[in-house]
Amino acid sequence: MPFQAHLHPRIFCVGRNYVDHIEELENEVPSEPVIFIKPYSCLEQRSTTLPFPTHGADLQHEIEVVVKIGKAGRPQHKEQARNFISGITLGLDLTLRDLQLQLKQQGLPWEKAKAFEHSAPIAIIRQMTKEINVAAIEFSCLVNNAIKQQSNTSKMLVPICDLIYYISSIWAFVPGDLIFTGTPKGVSSIKKGDVITIKSETLNINHQYRII
Ligand code: ZN
Repeated sequence: MPFQAHLHPRIFCVGRNYVDHIEELENEVPSEPVIFIKPYSCLEQRSTTLPFPTHGADLQHEIEVVVKIGKAGRPQHKEQARNFISGITLGLDLTLRDLQLQLKQQGLPWEKAKAFEHSAPIAIIRQMTKEINVAAIEFSCLVNNAIKQQSNTSKMLVPICDLIYYISSIWAFVPGDLIFTGTPKGVSSIKKGDVITIKSETLNINHQYRII
C-alpha cells in the first residue's frame, strides 16, 4: 500500500494554557494558543517505566488532560468541536527543561527538549460519553506520593472545545490525533527511581510510572 500521509495521526500539544503555570515559568500570557507537535513515535501507551533521556539533565513532569480525536476533517462550528472527541485520558508532556530554556534563549525549535523518545506517555483512554464534562475534569500528579500538580480543566485559559476548533483552523484532523491540552503549575524535576502518579477521579484513572 502506498504511503498516505493524510492518514497518519499526530500529537498536538498546547503550551501556556493555565495562568498559574505561565506565571511559574515567567512566560507571557499568549494572545492565541501556543501549539507544537510531537511525533506519534513519542507515545507510550500504558507503560509503567519511562527511561530518563541521556541528552539533558533536568527532566520535568507536565501532567495534561489528553483528548483523542475520532473523526476526520474539521468541525464547521465551535459547537461541533466536542463531537470530534472519541476518548479522553491523562498524559505527561515530559520536558527537558534545561535544554528547553537553552533552545528558547537561542530562538531555536523545542523538539530536542520535548519530542524525544518516550516523551508522551498516556494512561488508558476512556471512551467519550455524554456524562463527561470536558470543562470540569480534576486531575493530579504526584512524585513519590507527594502532590506536585493538582488542577481542573475549568481553569484553562482556552477550553478544550475552543482548542479543538483552533487547531482545526490550521490542520484537518485524522482519526487518532491526540491533543495534550496544557499543564497547570507545579512542574518539578524528576530523577531516576522516582515514581510518578497521574490520577483523576473524574476519569477513573490512577496510573504510575517509574523513571529508570
Ligand atoms: Zn505541556
